[in-house]
Amino acid sequence: MAEFTNPYAEEDPFVEAHFECLECGGKLWEYGIQRRMVCEDCRALFRTDEILEAQTS
Ligand SMILES: [Zn+2]
Repeated sequence: MAEFTNPYAEEDPFVEAHFECLECGGKLWEYGIQRRMVCEDCRALFRTDEILEAQTS
């Protein structure tokens, strides 16, 4: 995938992601800087790659 600049990154580094937490099923938010996702409920931190793999297989 090509690198691109997130236009929202300056004001809010979190972008709503349409994935569920692997721990509690809560909503995950993508943390744009390090390609991580964080759960808004339990604050579990996942790698984006890990989430994509888990939810597309
Ligand atoms: Zn969670």
